[in-house]
Amino acid sequence: MENDTDVSWDRKVDLLVAGAGPGGMTTALVGALEELDVLVCEKSQQVGGTGATSAGTLWIPENSQSKAEGYKDSASEAARYLEGLIGEDGDEERRQVYLDDGPKVIDYLAERTEVKFSPCGRHPDYRNNIAGAGLDGRAIVAEQFDGRKLGQDFDRVRPPIEEFMLFGGMMVSKEDVACLVNRYKSIMNFTHSASIYIRYLIDLLTHKRGTRLTMGNALTARLFYSLRQQNVPVLFGSPIIELVVKENRVQGAIIENEQGRQSILARKGVVFATGGFANNPDFRESFMPKPLPPYSMASSYNTGDGLNIGKSAGAGIVVPSHKRSAFWSPVSVTKRRDGSNGLFPHILLDRAKPGLIAVNSQGQRFTNEACSYHDFVEAMYRSHEVINTMPAWLICDSTFVFKYGIGTIHPGTTNLRKVAEAGYATISDTISDLATSLGIKKNKLENTVRRNNEFATTGIDSDFGKGDLELNRFNGDADNKPNPCLGNIEKPPFVAVAVWPAEIGCSIGLKTNINGQVLNRDDKEIIGMYACGNDMSSIMAGCYPGPGITLGPAIVFGYRVAKHAAGRASTQS
Ligand SMILES: Cc1cc2nc3c(=O)[nH]c(=O)nc-3n(C[C@H](O)[C@H](O)[C@H](O)COP(=O)(O)OP(=O)(O)OC[C@H]3O[C@@H](n4cnc5c(N)ncnc54)[C@H](O)[C@@H]3O)c2cc1C
Repeated sequence: MENDTDVSWDRKVDLLVAGAGPGGMTTALVGALEELDVLVCEKSQQVGGTGATSAGTLWIPENSQSKAEGYKDSASEAARYLEGLIGEDGDEERRQVYLDDGPKVIDYLAERTEVKFSPCGRHPDYRNNIAGAGLDGRAIVAEQFDGRKLGQDFDRVRPPIEEFMLFGGMMVSKEDVACLVNRYKSIMNFTHSASIYIRYLIDLLTHKRGTRLTMGNALTARLFYSLRQQNVPVLFGSPIIELVVKENRVQGAIIENEQGRQSILARKGVVFATGGFANNPDFRESFMPKPLPPYSMASSYNTGDGLNIGKSAGAGIVVPSHKRSAFWSPVSVTKRRDGSNGLFPHILLDRAKPGLIAVNSQGQRFTNEACSYHDFVEAMYRSHEVINTMPAWLICDSTFVFKYGIGTIHPGTTNLRKVAEAGYATISDTISDLATSLGIKKNKLENTVRRNNEFATTGIDSDFGKGDLELNRFNGDADNKPNPCLGNIEKPPFVAVAVWPAEIGCSIGLKTNINGQVLNRDDKEIIGMYACGNDMSSIMAGCYPGPGITLGPAIVFGYRVAKHAAGRASTQS
């Protein structure tokens, strides 16, 4: 133990980072590259947090990876879009810094580390009816990563959710899914599908799961691998529990692990990247809409420690005026092989496809089913103010399931009775019986289905405009005419899957400035205290402009925090 003034420090570093999700690991990595002595303390036994289970997409307007592939974009158009969507509720200064720095940060990581990204190409913003929205080039995703490179450390990478893996442990990307579903339609699709399957079988001889990592798992593994290359230590099972504050400055923090409590001096600061408040019942009660979402997709370790500890140090918490507290996805509840419940997020594979409607407890549609996952849940809440919409029911027929699948029911499934017996879906031979099973008045559901089938013929959804937005059509079926998102529901058995609201991340968080320095309730910096990731209040103020709007800011502000702590920020105060 060393002595520093009147505190006995067990360890001294420049930067202490709490949380090894994408936000924390980026901060630690950039800190090390900027010559800081960095220590990461992680509450769980693995890196990745919610980020490891995510799709791993980042929204970075004007990124150079997309430009190199010929996509044209404009950050000023993106700024116009954000202003149109978010309005005055957000923090324009942080938003602008994000847009200015985004491409630079991605290039910085790509040039100096193994954290590399590829462009997603066409990936429309979620509200292309607002000026400045983009249709392609803004989304990038972490390049696939070979987990074997991590050796023993591979087990330290939090696996994706079971529902996102095939055969119990094989990861697939969005592109892989398209190839697998159409594996008999071209030699290329077949060869690709066979190669990833064979690779998986080989992996199983030596590993507990597939080592061909994609999406958020690739991002996590790339960050962790790069941290290892920079010799940044990660202490597992070591949550931050308290700050040491003296003379209005954060001097360090207390972490707790098997060795007991340890005090860490952090000369340049302590960074909170503990993933937000998703699993903190008190914050849920204070911040979330009612009825409280019954499920969360966030890591169970994310219990609001950053917000709690920050609050006790006088930090401000930003609550957008309309209390948009989280980023949502509708989820269905699955039964896992070990008997536990899992959650399947209905992000993009089913809702937009032709021949699916979503209804409330009165059998009425309440939204454009092909809108973004976030907008879908906001619509559930709006509908629920009048009619019970918790759960909402996704309804389709057997043709739909065979072609596209629904939730965890894969395309090609013919034995729907088996799925129904497992309790995941309700099936019936008539719409009227289906309605009765769901407790919905049968004539109401029959009318809704009849109306849907009329829309399928005309190609115009005159109630909710399914298929109107580019996003709708992108996730629909281009071969389906006249509207890629509208199709008949006519061939029994008919299928219903219940969906509930769940958050994939929180948007309410600690108040910070453009360098991630935490501000107190009077908007003054708390010297030595930083936040990023979902511990930092979202620059999107709870709106969801496009794919990757939590990971993008987590990484960009993680970088800015590290640069500031190293005294090398472009806007050093
Ligand atoms: C299915 C799904 C898909 C998603 N897809 C995307 C996407 O494509 N793009 C996108 O932008 N977002 C996506 N998200 C959201 C995204 O994953 C999260 O917003 C993001 O991971 C937040 O990053 P973070 O670093 O703040 O937190 P996390 O990734 O959750 O990491 C927080 C870490 O902090 C640790 N921790 C908690 N408390 C403490 C403590 N006291 N001390 C030390 N460590 C602590 C946790 O164990 C965890 O490892 C998705 C989420 C889900 C569920």
